[in-house]
Amino acid sequence: MAISKKAGKKVTPAKQSGGKAKVAKADWKEGFKKKQVGVSDMTLLTTISNESINENLDKRWKSGEIYTYIGAVLISVNPFRDLGIYTEEVLQRYRGKNRLEVPPHVFGIAESAYYNMNAYHENQCVIISGESGAGKTEAAKRIMQYIAAVSGGQDSSIQEIKDMVLATNPLLESFGCAKTLRNNNSSRHGKYLEIMFNTQGEPVGAQITNYLLEKGRVVGQVENERDFHIFYQFTKGASSEQRDAFGLQGPEAYAYTSMSNCLEVQDIDDVKDYADTIKAMGVIGLSAEEQNEIFKMLAIILWLGNVQFEEMDDGNSRISDTGVTDFVAYLMEVDGALVQKVLTQRVMETTRGGRRGSVYDVPLNPSQASAGRDALAKAIYNNLFEWIVSRVNVSMKTRGAVAHVIGILDIFGFEIFEDNSFEQLCINYVNEKLQQIFIELTLKTEQEEYVREQIKWTPIKFFNNKIVCELIEERRPPGIFAALNDACATAHADPAAADNSFVQRTAMLASNPHFEARGAQFLVRHYAGDVMYNVVGMTDKNKDSLIKDLLDLIAASGNNFLQTLFPDRPDPNSKKRPPTAGDRIKQSAGALVENLMKAQPSYIRTIKPNQNRSSSEYDTKAVLHQIKYLGLQENIRVRRAGFAYRNTFEKMVERFYLLSPKTSYAGEYTWSGDAKSGCEQILKDVGIAKEEWQMGVTKAFIKNPETLFALETMRDR
Ligand code: ATP
Ligand code: MG
Repeated sequence: MAISKKAGKKVTPAKQSGGKAKVAKADWKEGFKKKQVGVSDMTLLTTISNESINENLDKRWKSGEIYTYIGAVLISVNPFRDLGIYTEEVLQRYRGKNRLEVPPHVFGIAESAYYNMNAYHENQCVIISGESGAGKTEAAKRIMQYIAAVSGGQDSSIQEIKDMVLATNPLLESFGCAKTLRNNNSSRHGKYLEIMFNTQGEPVGAQITNYLLEKGRVVGQVENERDFHIFYQFTKGASSEQRDAFGLQGPEAYAYTSMSNCLEVQDIDDVKDYADTIKAMGVIGLSAEEQNEIFKMLAIILWLGNVQFEEMDDGNSRISDTGVTDFVAYLMEVDGALVQKVLTQRVMETTRGGRRGSVYDVPLNPSQASAGRDALAKAIYNNLFEWIVSRVNVSMKTRGAVAHVIGILDIFGFEIFEDNSFEQLCINYVNEKLQQIFIELTLKTEQEEYVREQIKWTPIKFFNNKIVCELIEERRPPGIFAALNDACATAHADPAAADNSFVQRTAMLASNPHFEARGAQFLVRHYAGDVMYNVVGMTDKNKDSLIKDLLDLIAASGNNFLQTLFPDRPDPNSKKRPPTAGDRIKQSAGALVENLMKAQPSYIRTIKPNQNRSSSEYDTKAVLHQIKYLGLQENIRVRRAGFAYRNTFEKMVERFYLLSPKTSYAGEYTWSGDAKSGCEQILKDVGIAKEEWQMGVTKAFIKNPETLFALETMRDR
């Protein structure tokens, strides 16, 4: 067996204070001196039931203890107030500490991910889940804060990477978050941030993968929600030069930003946030030129939204005020007449026997014209957002060799609205996939591993949501996405006909107990609740293609930046159908799952205590619902019955051979037997009680985390 000498030495940059075991013990007592309310690790609950879990969380939340563990899983209940628990001082208390030494905290999760990466040389990921407004984004930011603070590096290029990683938060929140009825800073896209580290555990680069921006929000929002933050920041905070250049006015002057009657949000200062956005752009290295182009795109979108159509006697539309289209044309650097034409007419082409025939213009009625205008605005914003993400990635490109990666996943939470459409279907689908990973890794795989490794153990029952994932993503028999694709492909011209065709196809799904067809609606029984989806417009959203006329308009633009936002034009002669929105979300969710499964996961499960952002109201019914669907009870049972820690014999010996005179001599690895016997030897020599560990087929299992902690402490000594 190959044992690197390096692994035996202390090459764990995270363990800065942990080296002195005695100090750690004293700190540990210090940490718990403050009387703990309830139990801080729910595997220690005397009775396990949804009610007892709820009672424990309730008690703790009311006394300001928002964090609780289930083994290594962190449960976080949104406090909706500043608890002062993310200061530098608190952060330092978690440095180099084992989870068991200090009270539960998101910093504890960050520390253990960072520590495990360095100590066991494994990629890590932190998966944060929970419904909208539960605190996922806040948790993700705390993880980044912690890692930036502890990952060393006096080197300026390392510092630069850290600054950039932190600056992506204000930047992407401005463009990707919005006020909704559930959350004043709701993420309207999913995000996976990967930070790359060198062998010293210093960040050398980072990369963001973006999932599905809710672009429909650009052109319309329900009453009391808002458009993306950036539109209010920009219209309120722009400089006078920008106001002149873009003819910019306040948010009340634009249809897209004013239609939902919500220009102000409590606790949000758009003008200040605008300054922060600009600052973040600077940190990330966006040039003044690039920044100017970005804001020009926003101005185009805002002015496009103000283009109004009047109905003429023949039912066709006319532009109410060509002054507005002329200004849009000016910003887009295209001919004013072309803008008018593209927005009010559509070029149609007859095809005969597969051959292209004559071309003629079809006038649009006002509602068709408005739909075209909105499609253009949405496409520009969506592509601008994707451009920003890839631009950020260029800046954060890795410098130097990458040893390990820590990924942090923060997506849009599970959503149930009055009116649920394609966007909610996609969002909830991704949440199903994440729940599936959680089940796979903490419940199913855990149990399978015990069987495979021939470890004695009692099985636990749990609901596996695989059936819901299949209902949505299965190709054969066609699931919801496949049915949508088929409907799009057959009835391509008329969106209403395509929706109808989809409704007919869903009849086939009725055999799935998690699905119910109800005319122009259908119900999906998600793991987190039943959601009724509206079919109207779904196929069109799934198709998600900008019509040729609009693409031609962009191609005619004298603005290079606008053109680069639309790099690939579909080939009209291609037989292959371009990927639909459903295809893309399925593909990226699949890639994400694959990626996450390759790393060692840490979980943060966020809970929302009430629907009113109240810091005092604990809605038992709502919390109980979340406790149930998150499967916390099963999680505790599996955890209790099982083994807190396991690793291959090789990794165990590699890490702990120093602890036994039989396996090491003067710090050198000397064991000549196989890894399994070496492992047993170490545990015996250290004096770990026999009931505390079991040897499997390839791995050693340790029952209590305290035991592993004891081993680590001895090793550090
Ligand atoms: P979405 O799915 O809508 O994006 P989310 O789970 O990301 O929701 P957050 O934006 O993280 O939710 O949290 C919503 C709000 O709750 C925050 O803006 C903040 O006001 C408050 N909040 C969340 N976590 C904390 C915390 N740990 N301490 C104080 N306030 C918090
Ligand atoms: Mg969020």
